[in-house]
Amino acid sequence: MAAIDTLPPLREVIARHGLSARKALGQNFILDLNLTSKIARSAGDLNKCDVLEVGPGPGGLTRGLLAEGARKVVVVEKDPRCLPALAEIAAAYPRRLEIIEGDALDLKPSDALQTPVKIVANLPYNVGTELLVRWLSPEVWPPFWHSMTLMFQREVAERIVARPGSKAYGRLAILSQWRSEARIVMDLPPQAFTPPPKVRSAVVRITALPEPRYPADPEILSNITAHAFGQRRKMLRSSLRTLAPDIEDHLRAVGIAPTDRAEQIGIGEFYALARRLEGV
Ligand code: SAM
Repeated sequence: MAAIDTLPPLREVIARHGLSARKALGQNFILDLNLTSKIARSAGDLNKCDVLEVGPGPGGLTRGLLAEGARKVVVVEKDPRCLPALAEIAAAYPRRLEIIEGDALDLKPSDALQTPVKIVANLPYNVGTELLVRWLSPEVWPPFWHSMTLMFQREVAERIVARPGSKAYGRLAILSQWRSEARIVMDLPPQAFTPPPKVRSAVVRITALPEPRYPADPEILSNITAHAFGQRRKMLRSSLRTLAPDIEDHLRAVGIAPTDRAEQIGIGEFYALARRLEGV
């Protein structure tokens, strides 16, 4: 198969720059450039899009994104050891790669990006969910991103796309599916990574909807779901009791049986309850 670019193979890059993987930084690298191109393609057409990638590491996915035609790629990397390898990629793709050194949790890289923006990343497992929750909870909707194509541990991916009634259904599914469409687009075995992690991984594609599916106050909804799923084995009339003295009436009014448990309740019903409790 033809090489995606003229840069050296990733194993060589890693050896030359001494990029031994560090567990504390969640470093599980993908070295197969056919695979990184496939992940880049799973984000859809990248032409005319700016891409934000958190945690480029030695740059395998970055090379895939550039080769697949991204207008510009902005990468945020915490490990300074990776910067020389990334600089070589920037030199091979003049003016198309911007490298930001730092912690993605402290930065606001959206300032460096022009719409439409796609986020594509093989996220470090230790900050992946936190970043996802932040990206899903902007002050205004629609957010700065059009879609996010993100690698997670399979178990986290299942929680993002989970439907009511399933074991994985909870706060993350509700947050992810309120204002977005979420689906798993790729499955990866541990051997796809160096070093291999203990668990399987999956790529989730989340596309922002122009409007929320259900209008509701995000803070009230978050409070309700925290109570409901914090004690998921309890009936809702017990787990939500502290939110309103007459909670049973409110539950019935939006079509929820007070004896139901959180995992049985659809996203629309949680939102209807959030709206109803707005004035309480
Ligand atoms: N994208 C590369 C790949 O697919 O081979 C590396 C992915 S590796 C799972 C995660 C990367 O995120 C590492 O390069 C790590 O140094 C970086 N990283 C870890 N924590 C970070 C943080 N808080 N901010 C930015 N980058 C971080």
